[in-house]
Amino acid sequence: MEKIKIEGIDSVYTLSTASALSGIPGHSIRQYIDRGLIIPFRKESNRHLFSQVDILRLKYIHKLLTRDGLNIAGIRSVLALIPCWAIRKCSDSERTGCVAFQSDTYPCWEASEKGELCKNTDCRTCDVYRIVENYPDVKSYLKTLVP
Ligand code: SF4
Repeated sequence: MEKIKIEGIDSVYTLSTASALSGIPGHSIRQYIDRGLIIPFRKESNRHLFSQVDILRLKYIHKLLTRDGLNIAGIRSVLALIPCWAIRKCSDSERTGCVAFQSDTYPCWEASEKGELCKNTDCRTCDVYRIVENYPDVKSYLKTLVP
């Protein structure tokens, strides 16, 4: 299995290795990327690379599709409901200029116009994007906000 080095990350894998580790076909992984469900690393060569955490994320997405019967649009809608403005503590004026705050059909990291707070943030490292890595599902996270 091909492992590649990226500073600060223990293991980084190519798409074919990520496919083997997650059990998800490469063409499905490409589709998840195209629809904004996962943000892999990108090399200068435009090659997608995946961390161990990305593998977990891929499995989570796959579970929603196969076990829970969602389609990709449905998963995008679920991710769109994560209250990023509450997690990032955006002010009223920041929300006004943020397309993600208005949308209920795609996750905030897919927004074309992000608010000031997010413009220069790497979404891969953001708590909002990482919720599915840290909680078994989005609802478990929401329960921590509204017990
Ligand atoms: S930094 Fe990215 S993932 Fe985080 S709230 Fe902003 S748009 Fe969403």
